[in-house]
Amino acid sequence: MTGPVATAWQLPLRPELHGQVPYGAPQLDVPVRLNTNENPYPPSAKVVADITAAVSAAAAGLNRYPDRDCMELRTALAGYLDGEAGARLGPGRLWPANGSNEVMQQLLQAFGGPGRTALSFAPTYSMYPEYARNTHTEWVTGRRAADFGLDLDEATGLISRLQPSVVLLTSPNNPTGTALPQSQLRAVLDVAPGVVIVDEAYAEFRRAGVPSAVTLLADYPQLIVTRTMSKAFALAGGRLGYLAASAEVVDAVRIVRLPYHLSAVSQATALAALANSAELLATVQALRTERDATVSWLRGQGLRAADSDANFVLFGTFADGHAVWQGLLDRGVLIRETGPDGWLRVSIGTAEDMRAFRGALSEVAALAERAGSSLTGLRKEERG
Ligand code: PMP
Repeated sequence: MTGPVATAWQLPLRPELHGQVPYGAPQLDVPVRLNTNENPYPPSAKVVADITAAVSAAAAGLNRYPDRDCMELRTALAGYLDGEAGARLGPGRLWPANGSNEVMQQLLQAFGGPGRTALSFAPTYSMYPEYARNTHTEWVTGRRAADFGLDLDEATGLISRLQPSVVLLTSPNNPTGTALPQSQLRAVLDVAPGVVIVDEAYAEFRRAGVPSAVTLLADYPQLIVTRTMSKAFALAGGRLGYLAASAEVVDAVRIVRLPYHLSAVSQATALAALANSAELLATVQALRTERDATVSWLRGQGLRAADSDANFVLFGTFADGHAVWQGLLDRGVLIRETGPDGWLRVSIGTAEDMRAFRGALSEVAALAERAGSSLTGLRKEERG
């Protein structure tokens, strides 16, 4: 008697996930890490002590679930943002999660979904299509203008035609560093039929005079601004992002969030960090200065560098960006291969990090010259 034919068991993976790989930049152990837009300055001994004390107090109650609604943290976040918003937001209009990544996914869970469209404008943050995929939301990207700004005619045209339930704008944009003028944001808000999310992960680095979308919250109930403590606050390891919006938006997100999504340890850490805002944000000015100097230096080398309101600079253009990236990595400097073809992105580090970056890039350029080429003409076969 023959038994049942053993068929190879197949993992019942969703078809659209076949062949996909997890998102993430290389985490390499090199001396100079300028590839994920982290703040290069670690917390001071005082901030470490404050966070340790707060976490220690939270640890004593870890047998209980944390405050599901994160009220103390939301009140502190509102306090931080009130000044910029020019209004008292209050905890009801703030919502935190594990990084602005989670905030964004919750927003698409609430406002995207099957049969719905989310619209953004490329080049932009490469995680967005993944939030859309994970929430079965159709993802459409329009193109940015040649200077990486929004092409307003194209943007408003696409919005009118597609009627997306979500428009996702990024200011300053990653990987280009481009800020969104408020007049353009208003124009988008005036035609968008659904919610308009402005991802302001890098807002604290914007140049003087560049406004934040939070100042428009009072005028537009469909506007959602997302922020993070990962960048300016130097708390990437703490995983704390948040949104500011109308109380109705917050209520909608609370429907889809997992219960107790933000651990007591995360809440305590963020509260202690917020209590040290002034000290943590004191590095922002140094990073801005270093950024502007990096843009000038790159341009002085005959390269293109996009104007940046963030803590990174997109520069190029290279015939073979990968060869330049590899040349830098060979010299201990890790940057990011992202953005349009031929461009690379460098995060702004300490003055010492940036000296190493300039030194390594100069060496790669010298090597190209010796091979009878130039940095912008550098090809794979000429790599050192
Ligand atoms: N938005 C943008 C534009 C980003 O670049 C990043 C981080 N690279 C994030 C959101 C997510 O940041 P986090 O989840 O650490 O808050």
